[in-house]
Amino acid sequence: MNKIYLDNAATTPLSEEVIDAMVSTMKMNFGNPSSTHSFGQEAKILIENVRRQVAEYLHVTPAEIIFTSCGTESNNMIIKSSVEHLGIERIISTPLEHKCVSETILDMKNRKGVEVNYIRPNEKGDIDLNKLEELLKTSDKKTLVSLMHANNEIGNISDIKKIAELCKASNALFHSDTVQTMAHMNLDFSDIMVDFASCSAHKFHGPKGVGFAFIRKATGMKGIITGGPQERSLRAGTENVSGIVGLGKALELSLNHMEEYTNHMQEIKDYAIERLSAVIPDIKFNGRSAEKEKSLYTVLSALLPYKNPLIGLQLDMKGIAISQGSACSSGASKPSMVMMMVLTEDEMDHCTPLRISFSHMTTKAEIDALADALEEISKEFAIEKTNVEHR
Ligand code: PLP
Repeated sequence: MNKIYLDNAATTPLSEEVIDAMVSTMKMNFGNPSSTHSFGQEAKILIENVRRQVAEYLHVTPAEIIFTSCGTESNNMIIKSSVEHLGIERIISTPLEHKCVSETILDMKNRKGVEVNYIRPNEKGDIDLNKLEELLKTSDKKTLVSLMHANNEIGNISDIKKIAELCKASNALFHSDTVQTMAHMNLDFSDIMVDFASCSAHKFHGPKGVGFAFIRKATGMKGIITGGPQERSLRAGTENVSGIVGLGKALELSLNHMEEYTNHMQEIKDYAIERLSAVIPDIKFNGRSAEKEKSLYTVLSALLPYKNPLIGLQLDMKGIAISQGSACSSGASKPSMVMMMVLTEDEMDHCTPLRISFSHMTTKAEIDALADALEEISKEFAIEKTNVEHR
């Protein structure tokens, strides 16, 4: 059975070039970058080259890039350190954030007594920026705003340039979880004045276990992992040299092919919307998922017009990997907070969300296979529904 992978928002397959660069580093550059001898210094040079490359991409200085183990660590570091070292007393966020942000904010509330204000999105998953502006004006407490760039479940893109301006006007710090957009979009942080952002290499065909945090220099941020002076003392621990090299190679490939990959994935996404709408006429798309410009081209969040908590498993048995979203009101998976925000209660009870996510490797033939499989499954449900109605 030819397997089809349509879960690229969860993780992406490694590029061959990335694997080659990593293997070569593991073989040839095993030195500890903190060692002063040539083995160490050669490894150190590799890391600094990638740091410069990332800084160039984001239009920032290399000193503002701190390598970490993943997006989760970067977000933890930014939020926890803002509270512990920068005197943050209040955090403004939304229920749409990834768990590594929302749980960390909750932790800061419970353990550090930080005030947390949530902005509830509308049924499209949009955040009202007037509400943010209002909230920013209501308190003198030192505030961190944490709003993601693109949502990993529905793909909604937020206007982080505008949000950064609102934060600046109120002297608030701004953190954006940019894990789903780094290396997928051109990001210029000399124009978009975020204070903190995060990246994870495995979301763009790099390795797992490596990412970085962007920490704007003027913020005076300190690290939360203590030990040696690595990463300018912001993140102690011997660096993952081959991982960082892999991140650099994956970023280079993404940037070199950005236009080609973006056009390809947008075309694939449009095709998926067309094909799925043809085989399941009552299908819906969640949030801004089906709207160009407002949604990330890698993510399509669909809503099937029947309840089938086993759909992920059924598709997997047909060799197709997708993420189920999870608005199930029964079974093992609990509804995700994002789905609870964008679906009605009736939809939660009677429909099934599916997240289909693409890479530059996804083909139209794979979308056809998904459409065929969903058509078959949906017909079974239509027959079952008719039988129940006639009983
Ligand atoms: N933030 C977002 C928006 C994500 O989609 C993910 C991963 O799914 C993360 C953070 C966590 O990244 P990592 O898997 O590198 O910890």
